Amino acid sequence: MPRVDRRSFITTTSLGVTSASLTSVPAFGQGLPDVVVIGAGAFGAWTALHLRERGVKVTLLDAFGPGNSRATSGGETRQIRVGYGDREMYSRWVLRALDAWRTREKEFERQLLFPIGRLQLASEWNAGMEATKKVFDTLDVRHERLNRDDLLRRFPAMSFDDAGAALYEPGAGIIKAREAIVAVTTSFGRKGGTLTIARAFPGPVSGRRMEAVSSAAERFSAAAFVFACGPWLRKVFPNLLGTRISTPRREVFFFGTPPGDQRYSWPNLPNFSEPSFYGFPSLDQRGLKVSPVGGDDLMDPDTEERLPSEALAQRSREYVARRFPGMKGQPIVESRVCQLENTVDEHFLIDRHPDYDNVWIAGGGSGHGFKHGPVVGEYIAERAMGRAVDPAFARVFALKRGPS
Ligand SMILES: Cc1cc2nc3c(=O)[nH]c(=O)nc-3n(C[C@H](O)[C@H](O)[C@H](O)COP(=O)(O)OP(=O)(O)OC[C@H]3O[C@@H](n4cnc5c(N)ncnc54)[C@H](O)[C@@H]3O)c2cc1C
Repeated sequence: MPRVDRRSFITTTSLGVTSASLTSVPAFGQGLPDVVVIGAGAFGAWTALHLRERGVKVTLLDAFGPGNSRATSGGETRQIRVGYGDREMYSRWVLRALDAWRTREKEFERQLLFPIGRLQLASEWNAGMEATKKVFDTLDVRHERLNRDDLLRRFPAMSFDDAGAALYEPGAGIIKAREAIVAVTTSFGRKGGTLTIARAFPGPVSGRRMEAVSSAAERFSAAAFVFACGPWLRKVFPNLLGTRISTPRREVFFFGTPPGDQRYSWPNLPNFSEPSFYGFPSLDQRGLKVSPVGGDDLMDPDTEERLPSEALAQRSREYVARRFPGMKGQPIVESRVCQLENTVDEHFLIDRHPDYDNVWIAGGGSGHGFKHGPVVGEYIAERAMGRAVDPAFARVFALKRGPS
């Protein structure tokens, strides 16, 4: 195979950038570059697939397997919405991601995206809604500003006594989470990628190069490494990321819908979001999904048992009874406990490790990363191959220097 040199990697990318923004490239050796991606969640699985589709020899390692119950990408569903307040760059990425999800659904031959719309609710119209609306106007995203009368007429299964305003985004929807990760890794395998279940840790290293990552049983050598370990990143690189990524606990409850009543199920109810709660209609008969927003209790992704607290279960019961009067008294039929992997500014963290020229860190999804999978994976793959990307994105995703 021909030697892969710097010039051949610094090219115009599919991310629409024409100038090189990187000053160095990974130390790929002779022949095809090879990359080990550590972590098969939304960030790692999509990265591995994009690398493989670019001809790279890729090994994807995951300690517990794709879509596992500890991973932040586990569980049934995630929301996809273009609305991001004034963070327009993410809105632009979601528009690209929506197209990519639709294309991949065809390729994977399974429905992963369930369009249903999203109601962003508040007691009155606020600055966040106004900022989102402005971006919608700029990007020509369909939306409606609704008052209480509109809401009562349009969404009769819900009560709006304490909600006087809403921004409705009809193009938003639900993505199947665990199932999508399994589909991505299956495609990766079909295209010649290697998936191995193993927990790997950095090293050995030699100067500014990582030579390999090591599991209890094996060493995995490569020209470059992408650590996409989600909430585990802070454990893998404790000195660098121990205080830059936090892992707050989140609880999710599924309320059984009344027998024979389809009002709370997809496609009859939109996603809903407000300062204290968000949720989705019942999909696949799992129940109306609600989750309390916020909370600073940190959890360890390895060791914590996934049992919900009675306090949040009760708050959720009260919320459901208030917002969906016909659901009052319905039982919780399933629950999930998981952790976020938040950066301080809730921007993604995608950057080269400051100590190694051939190591990339990719994570910090911060409660909004899943939907971006197909686009973020492409971005990480391009960076790991030393290709030019939009410097504005590189700046936002950079490891923030100085005290964390
Ligand atoms: C309750 C909740 C709701 C959310 N809602 C949304 C939403 O509506 N929309 C949205 O877009 N996003 C949402 N998110 C965020 C989104 O789910 C995450 O940003 C995204 O899934 C993170 O993916 P990841 O690949 O970085 O991490 P993970 O999915 O955690 O993947 C990391 C993987 O690395 C593996 N691993 C870790 N360490 C090692 C090691 N040393 N060796 C080998 N393997 C290792 C793990 O087993 C795991 O599979 C939500 C998150 C939560 C918790």
